[in-house]
Amino acid sequence: MKAPGVLVVGGGIAGLCAAISARRAGARVLLVESAPRWRRGGNSRHARNFRFCHDRPSALVAGSYPADVFADDLARATAGGADAALSRLLIERSRAAPQWLRDAGVALQALGRGRLPVSSKTAFLLGGGQAMVNALYACAEGLGVEIRYGCAAGQARLSGNRLVGIDLRSACQATHPGQQLAETVAPDAVVLACGGAQGNAHWLRQHCGERVEGFINRGTPDARGDILIELLAAGAQAVGDPGRLYLVAVDARSPAEDGGIVTRIRGMPLGLVVDREGRRRHDEGADQGSTRYALWGQRLADYPGQIGYLLLDAKGLNAAPAALYPPLIAPDVQGLARQTGINADALESTWLAYNAAMRACPSLHSPPLDPPRTGPAAVLETPPFAAYPMRPGLTFSYHGLAVDARARVRLASGEPIGNLFAAGTLMAPNLCPQGYLSGLMLTIGLVFGCLAGEEAAHVARA
Ligand SMILES: Cc1cc2nc3c(=O)[nH]c(=O)nc-3n(C[C@H](O)[C@H](O)[C@H](O)COP(=O)(O)OP(=O)(O)OC[C@H]3O[C@@H](n4cnc5c(N)ncnc54)[C@H](O)[C@@H]3O)c2cc1C
Repeated sequence: MKAPGVLVVGGGIAGLCAAISARRAGARVLLVESAPRWRRGGNSRHARNFRFCHDRPSALVAGSYPADVFADDLARATAGGADAALSRLLIERSRAAPQWLRDAGVALQALGRGRLPVSSKTAFLLGGGQAMVNALYACAEGLGVEIRYGCAAGQARLSGNRLVGIDLRSACQATHPGQQLAETVAPDAVVLACGGAQGNAHWLRQHCGERVEGFINRGTPDARGDILIELLAAGAQAVGDPGRLYLVAVDARSPAEDGGIVTRIRGMPLGLVVDREGRRRHDEGADQGSTRYALWGQRLADYPGQIGYLLLDAKGLNAAPAALYPPLIAPDVQGLARQTGINADALESTWLAYNAAMRACPSLHSPPLDPPRTGPAAVLETPPFAAYPMRPGLTFSYHGLAVDARARVRLASGEPIGNLFAAGTLMAPNLCPQGYLSGLMLTIGLVFGCLAGEEAAHVARA
């Protein structure tokens, strides 16, 4: 094969933005996506909103979101861990995100239409991430980007501070069913946009221990991290912590992979959360914010067997946010214990103690309990009773490749590799090494995807 000017590895938001930008800048672009066509788009398929800086309200957002407020939010969420120069770049370039998406054919949700929350900081994709991915693929194809599905990039070969070749493996169903074709190509520049390693069970066990057996990967199984792992071994600089994961509370009955956003459980402030021994471990009412499911994801990771149960009475169930699976239902607490396998005596005594504390505290704020129960709370006494089994749902890991302000991958020495770029989840820990802001990851994918594509095209032209 004749080597492309720019090779883009991965076809989620970061790769698609890189491919479109590089092509618009005049480069010949090949995008390789390891998944088959029907599963293209990685975790970007699952996303729904992105965060961007703006000075006034619009059809997409209520109010303004000035750069300094975005910067403060990012600093708070990441406990000051975000790279300062890259944060400024992200925030400034995020201004153009809505128009860039529209120009590429992506439809955005008008504010206040449908059932999505009104926000001054994030805008929603009409039709969600899948619709965005489909539009970006159509745009890339229309511009003449060559796309190969079922084609995985492997080892990136370095010579000093240059990439001199990269291995590609393609499933060749048409001519050699079941076989793989392997080749090494030497493009002028490569953009790596192939996500993290959170879909790699071996890697997860190695860094996070046996407890990951109890986690559910709510995103793509194609985040195998092979290139990340190999590049770090070859001398690239790491950012973040491989043992740190962004987890959210999901229904324990969700598929092992790719269940997406609908598997979240969010009704904790309306009920009681116990572990499999029937014990409460945390204050269910302390976190009322929209990201509470993420705090619960971290907590569940420390529960015995990485499983917990949200228990509600009929009133709580009625008020709880919609969930994908129906809850387990029983006329009494013993019935719930039988269905869930929770120790019945322990569950009953936790339940009785909880209700006694609620009755003893007429204001229903901060009744005396250990752990405490803050926020509005109610006696759980109206049958039937309901239980949602919950596990930590894995979204991404806080570990990736260090990049400079041109999105070039850095060597451990700090020197950039001149023709190797990274975008999206793969380099997101430069900006988000811990914590999270909703809509941040799509913005990182878009901003650094576009930047990497422009820079790669520049290298390819030189
Ligand atoms: C359920 C869920 C909901 C989310 N919701 C939001 C949200 O609302 N807002 C937000 O900002 N973020 C959200 N996120 C996070 C966000 O979706 C991702 O972080 C972001 O889309 C990642 O984009 P990316 O392009 O870096 O990676 P991906 O979209 O994962 O794309 C990487 C691609 O690379 C391919 N690939 C992997 N290895 C190779 C290889 N060796 N060779 C070739 N191809 C390869 C994969 O198949 C994949 O298609 C959500 C994540 C999940 C799981």
